Amino acid sequence: MKVPFLDLGASYFELKSEIDSAIQRVLSSGWYILGPEVEAFEAEWANYCEAKYAVGLANGLDALILALRALGVGKGDEVIVPSNTYIATWLAVSAVGATPVPVEPDPATFNLDSSRIEAAITKNTKVLLPVHLYGQPADLDPILALARKHNLFVVEDAAQAHGARYKGKRIGAHGDVVCWSFYPGKNLGALGDAGGITTNSPELADKIRVLRNYGSRVKYVNEVQGINSRLDPIQAAVLRTKLNYLDEWTERRKAIALTYLSNLHGTELVLPFVPDWAEPVWHLFVVRSSNRNQLQSYLTEAGIGTLIHYPIPPHLQVAYAHAKIHFDALQITKFLSDQVLSLPISPAQRNDQTYEVIKIMLQSSKNEIISLNRENLAK
Ligand SMILES: *Cc1c(COP(=O)(O)O)cnc(C)c1O
Repeated sequence: MKVPFLDLGASYFELKSEIDSAIQRVLSSGWYILGPEVEAFEAEWANYCEAKYAVGLANGLDALILALRALGVGKGDEVIVPSNTYIATWLAVSAVGATPVPVEPDPATFNLDSSRIEAAITKNTKVLLPVHLYGQPADLDPILALARKHNLFVVEDAAQAHGARYKGKRIGAHGDVVCWSFYPGKNLGALGDAGGITTNSPELADKIRVLRNYGSRVKYVNEVQGINSRLDPIQAAVLRTKLNYLDEWTERRKAIALTYLSNLHGTELVLPFVPDWAEPVWHLFVVRSSNRNQLQSYLTEAGIGTLIHYPIPPHLQVAYAHAKIHFDALQITKFLSDQVLSLPISPAQRNDQTYEVIKIMLQSSKNEIISLNRENLAK
């Protein structure tokens, strides 16, 4: 039996007639830029995220860039970012002319280790930018407390955390601006590029709304040098349709995660750890193995699709070679990138497929691909 890592078409086919008619509604409306469909999605998304405002944008990278621009972040400023994240988090900081300052994760949760943040704060620091990696919220309270103490803004990269809760409250407005991607593979994914922000600040929502549309509120009147990063109404219509199913899809992800967790313990694998204040949405199910590459080959040969998130951390990318971050400086990030492996998880995954993954994983342990002891695994 084959288990794909992710079947991107599945959520479309599950809702085909609803999505087709939502798209048809936009095509027939004659309204193809911003307008009622985008406004309706913004209201529904803000409401879902327990935030006051949402602004629809073209993609998640623009969401991060415009959030930083709206906060006045630019040349000479520093932004504290996780050292282990998708590179978009860093690129947004660089795009506004500021410097990304990496801080290492807590290896148990993969998220920013708040006890390491204060040492990285300088007189140039403007923003703390936690990422809710793999769908699990970062520990926000200590981050928000540090921001208050040092007079910093908090921007959240929630591109993997649609619907996740921190201490009972949805991710959406804990920090000053929360940035979303609706890239097709995300938990709420469009049928193309899409993104957005949520916030409780009317001023920041307004600034980002103006920035996304050429810096213009009134056609041909330009207040600031904005960009074109408008959410496409066709994608807004698709997202509105899928949003009605997001909680059900999250429940299916949760069931798969629980099945993995209860069947894969007792091996050398390090399984995801969920703190008691976190309600993750299982964008990814990431295990660690000291023999990751061999384990991945074994699974591939058995027809199980896996991915590595992420094989090369941002500081080791050629794109950041100029930053001259000392190789030894980010050891935790480096060893995590050598050990992480993402197992298949998605709302479309059937029970028999989940058990097939478990069966092959346990077989690999019998074949000493993964062992039953944890000795050679860095903690
Ligand atoms: C997907 C993602 C982004 C970027 O989103 P795009 O819509 O692809 O621009 C940013 N940060 C993280 C953590 C992501 O996973």
